Amino acid sequence: MRLATAEIDINALRHNLAIVKEMAPSAKVMAVLKANAYGHGLVKIAQCLEGADAFAVARIDEALALRAGGLTKPIILLEGFFAPSDLPILLANNFETVVHDENQLAAIEACQLDAPISVWLKIDTGMHRLGIEPHQFEQFYARLKQSPNVKADTKLMTHFPCADDLNNDFTTQQIAAFTALVKERDEALCLANSAGIIGWPDAHFDWVRSGLMLYGVSPMLNCTGVDHALKPVMRLKTRVIAIKHVVCGDRIGYGGRWTCEKDTTLAVVAMGYGDGYPRHAKEGTPVVIKGQRYGIVGSISMDMISVDIGCDSDQIRVGDEVEMWGPNLPVEEIADCADTIPYELLCNITPRVSYDYLSD
Ligand SMILES: *Cc1c(COP(=O)(O)O)cnc(C)c1O
Repeated sequence: MRLATAEIDINALRHNLAIVKEMAPSAKVMAVLKANAYGHGLVKIAQCLEGADAFAVARIDEALALRAGGLTKPIILLEGFFAPSDLPILLANNFETVVHDENQLAAIEACQLDAPISVWLKIDTGMHRLGIEPHQFEQFYARLKQSPNVKADTKLMTHFPCADDLNNDFTTQQIAAFTALVKERDEALCLANSAGIIGWPDAHFDWVRSGLMLYGVSPMLNCTGVDHALKPVMRLKTRVIAIKHVVCGDRIGYGGRWTCEKDTTLAVVAMGYGDGYPRHAKEGTPVVIKGQRYGIVGSISMDMISVDIGCDSDQIRVGDEVEMWGPNLPVEEIADCADTIPYELLCNITPRVSYDYLSD
């Protein structure tokens, strides 16, 4: 009997890519696949995104895994490279690099390469994480143009910290500052992450970087994917492994954290933080069994969770399937219950969970 399983709906994935293209029709799409494609399986997801124009990852190892998996599309390293010795690897594998600081630029200028590489110059317009300062732009741009190690097709990018909030005009300010800075240069521009794609059409330009929304999940505040016509790709499911009758006053689970206020029935479900389910999910966080929602009680253990199935106890049996999140239970909602964001829940799926890829 399969227990913790992430069912991955490839049709939904392709549908979501089509939505990205519908929302940003004039832009090319960089599919963001870092962190094991947000927990969905790096190579498998890449193989199913025939329609993407490029892939993006955070680390060279992720990019190498894509090449080892036979993927041939351009791959962009979102944080660039970390040592000069990485540069021959970039060239040999046709990886494109972000340049966000002086060390990277100097390394590119100093190296001996048989052919030039493609560069995405990252400018910090207010996130204050990676990126050169706006006043450094002219100098960096000129040096990139002069270096024989850099291809002529330099792209210009920036990143949004607040695009999930439509009431925050910081994104508008960033778009204005960025376009004012680079307007003399006839280069491809890349600004929008998923929140930029969904919420800020003025940010679309030539390339969009689509991560979370590809997986059918909303980055916007107080929304779920269906609000943007997206379909959840992952269904995290498991099974009931025991049914337990308890009486008023019984205390459930580690620490006896939850006390029954009346006689009830619990379903013990084979899922825990050892599978990546958030241990901090609060009392009452829903799961779905046979189309009905039931709340979690007691503390979440490594391998098991107890669910109060109360008066429906006669309809639920050992072996019944339990959805922890997915099409019937938005991961955005579970993230709220665990005081985190859906990104973290998806990335945290552990190797113990098996994967089923479904498509027609
Ligand atoms: C992860 C990442 C993205 C994708 O963000 P989503 O919100 O998942 O769409 C885009 N750009 C950069 C620089 C990133 O690091």
